[in-house]
Amino acid sequence: MKIAIVGAGIVGVTTAFELAQDGHAVSVFEQRSAAAEESSFAAGGLLAPGLLSPWSAPGASPFPTLLGSQSTLRLGSALTLAEMSWLRRWRRAARACAKSGEPRPPLVALERLARYSQVRLLHLTESLDLRFEHSHGTLLLLRSPDDTKTLTAAIKALRDGGGTLHEVDADTARSIEPGLSPALHLAGALHAPEGLSGNCRQFALVMRQASQHRGAQFHFNTRVHRLAGHPIGVHVQGEATPRPFDAVVLCAGAQSAALLRPLGQNLPLVALHGSSVSAPLREELHAPQGVVVDVQTQTTIARLGQRVRVSGGAELGRGTAQAHPQTLNTLYRVLGECFPGGVTHSSGLQVWRGARPMLPDGPPAVGATTVPGLWLNLGHGASGWSLACGSARALADQIAGRTPDIDLEGLGAQRF
Ligand SMILES: Cc1cc2nc3c(=O)[nH]c(=O)nc-3n(C[C@H](O)[C@H](O)[C@H](O)COP(=O)(O)OP(=O)(O)OC[C@H]3O[C@@H](n4cnc5c(N)ncnc54)[C@H](O)[C@@H]3O)c2cc1C
Repeated sequence: MKIAIVGAGIVGVTTAFELAQDGHAVSVFEQRSAAAEESSFAAGGLLAPGLLSPWSAPGASPFPTLLGSQSTLRLGSALTLAEMSWLRRWRRAARACAKSGEPRPPLVALERLARYSQVRLLHLTESLDLRFEHSHGTLLLLRSPDDTKTLTAAIKALRDGGGTLHEVDADTARSIEPGLSPALHLAGALHAPEGLSGNCRQFALVMRQASQHRGAQFHFNTRVHRLAGHPIGVHVQGEATPRPFDAVVLCAGAQSAALLRPLGQNLPLVALHGSSVSAPLREELHAPQGVVVDVQTQTTIARLGQRVRVSGGAELGRGTAQAHPQTLNTLYRVLGECFPGGVTHSSGLQVWRGARPMLPDGPPAVGATTVPGLWLNLGHGASGWSLACGSARALADQIAGRTPDIDLEGLGAQRF
């Protein structure tokens, strides 16, 4: 088949690879000049377990607080109706999860996809001999005994799915991550020995090359300003007529909803912004070895080769293009509290702000739409890096008419 993909973030690039691998003629349209220039540029790095990414789904992380300088969710000056409705749905689902302590179906669907994705990523890494910065082990810091309570449903979903998560005391946590500050008070920690972190952008770039070797064509600086419905195709900005295709896969991240609306497809997708700071390593022994999640502040600190990346913050609604000052304060504070002396602040700092393309229940939309030939792979929220390889393979199987390796219940666009 002749297939167009809109968007060359981590999701578009992995989708291009799987479709090209299946023998399709793939054309990727990307408005930026390279792959992974938007949400996938400097994402936190947490790959596995995907469910432990802060903000991965309502009920997977602590209930979002809105007020005060320590709030985990910051609201912009003017929320749209869509953003207000998204927030209501997210908070309602998070509250229901916190009350019962049981994982709701979206949490289970997300865990299943994240687990499959990890297997697929490891397979691709080995079979294609992919080189990208990565490290092993995930440690969740529990600063107070209450931190575990807020994670009950996620922990259950992880363990029910076959994941290993050890409850460890503060001394054991320090032996797993010896760079943790002795001054940091810990009630304990949760350790996922099979956890992984990695550099999302680097992986996207090597996967773009692997896709090109299989014949995928990448058209950079090429904006799709409209999708054509009947017959299916893409209107490229500056061209008079649409380019026809047998199928179009929309992987346009946070900008997908606007492209879908004219075709009568309304998805409750919002952009939840956050930031990351990447700093050069100063002292190996004082830096994280794998990825560390600070449950209380919803931040992650990941080791990426010779750098450490701290990320977090959640901002809904209109804001500036710059990182939010309070988010940055939190990132620097948490990094200093956990790994003082691990990084150098004087030069080589990279500060980034990006959007998590979020649906209100957590999991992405992966599959067919009601428009013949139009497929979705979008809305991966806070765990697009963790989910990309699995959702790309599952979508390619659906397009080929094969039964995917995992149950896709809870991932269809029709659920909204
Ligand atoms: C602060 C922060 C920390 C994060 N940490 C993690 C983490 O630790 N682990 C994890 O798994 N995930 C994390 N994420 C989430 C992850 O970054 C996203 O889920 C993922 O990058 C989304 O990938 P994507 O390909 O869907 O979107 P994008 O990377 O945004 O790609 C979409 C692409 O579509 C292109 N595009 C859009 N519209 C058009 C158009 N009309 N024409 C042509 N091209 C178009 C865009 O230019 C863009 O390149 C984090 C996100 C943030 C913001």
